[in-house]
Amino acid sequence: MNYKVNDQGFYGDFGGAFIPEMLYHNLNELKENYLQIIESDEFQKEFKGLLKEYVGRPTPLYFAKRLSEKYNTNVFLKREDLNHTGAHKINNTIGQILLAKRMNKKRIIAETGAGQHGVATATVCALMNLECIIYMGEIDIKRQAPNVARMKMLGAEVRPATSGSKTLKDATNEAIRDWISNPETTYYLIGSVVGPHPYPDMVARFQSIISKEMKAQLIEKTGRDYPDKVIACVGGGSNAAGAFYHYMDNEKVELIAVEADGLGIETDKTAATTQVGTEGIIHGSKTLLMQNSEGQITEPHSISAGLDYPGVGPLHAHLFKSGRGTFIGATDKEALTAAYQITKLEGIIPALESSHALAALEKIEFSSTENIVINLSGRGDKDMETYIKEMDNE
Ligand SMILES: *Cc1c(COP(=O)(O)O)cnc(C)c1O
Repeated sequence: MNYKVNDQGFYGDFGGAFIPEMLYHNLNELKENYLQIIESDEFQKEFKGLLKEYVGRPTPLYFAKRLSEKYNTNVFLKREDLNHTGAHKINNTIGQILLAKRMNKKRIIAETGAGQHGVATATVCALMNLECIIYMGEIDIKRQAPNVARMKMLGAEVRPATSGSKTLKDATNEAIRDWISNPETTYYLIGSVVGPHPYPDMVARFQSIISKEMKAQLIEKTGRDYPDKVIACVGGGSNAAGAFYHYMDNEKVELIAVEADGLGIETDKTAATTQVGTEGIIHGSKTLLMQNSEGQITEPHSISAGLDYPGVGPLHAHLFKSGRGTFIGATDKEALTAAYQITKLEGIIPALESSHALAALEKIEFSSTENIVINLSGRGDKDMETYIKEMDNE
């Protein structure tokens, strides 16, 4: 079984580029150029330099002693929460902004739901002095005021999407419309392993730094460059893709993806795409998504904004269908419990998204000799309002 993308942009049955004809030119330009550019020595030198000096990589692989004692196994945390801007998203936005520059694009567009990808994009546009336009649903703009303020302070223009449900998918439509209208000048910067080929492959490559570092760090700490299990949360799937990347062909490593069950998969308030979704096309890609019998995308629910997405990237649909990945879910409540626990045991306040990965410790079996890596995708500063509200309810 092959887990890398093929020449047509497919992972098994999933992926491809299902886009309006008007976008063929833009996407072809990207497809023709991305590998050659990002694999060049000159690109890699600047990319690695910024990851080191600006982002703060390598992130530590921390042996969580008290968490390990509690579960009677060996738990390591890959500390993506320590990156500049507080999550793994910056690995990808740095990579794509360097690519955009080399393709002579002066104007960057992106969509954002909770605002995390918008902030990561506005950050690298400030760094590179490029014009930045972020599309965001009108409702999300109201819900995510602190991130909107951050984007504006970083010099981005935040444009409201006022159609439909006024949330992420409407912002995506606006961004695609903009790209069609401005093909020469504009680069569309996607924030996860989603969208038409070559985006899923490109984003996975930029995030693969996570498992590349893990290999070197595990050798040093355990004498072996692979763990028994890697656990990561999945929204679109970029932090999981990065954490799994260099282990996909090593069948000794169990890849565990944790989706957001929300209030439970038996309710309609969930974001567990592989459990309740079906095959279809979203964001230009054939994958699993949550849709009704008429093929209308249904509104997902998760307590964590970053997992509140109605699809998964095509790589994950393939890992799920082929059985290479183990897909489980954690509810809002289970994620909160895991968040309070790691905060007390390790002094680390995690992002709500990452708390879903931590909740997996309650759900899987392991022996005392196993080494387990949990990808701690982000820090919890942005989620304090939710954490405080829940503590008051206890
Ligand atoms: C955005 C986000 C996620 C979900 O996105 P993926 O593409 O699935 O990684 C997970 N964790 C954090 C901290 C995020 O900000």
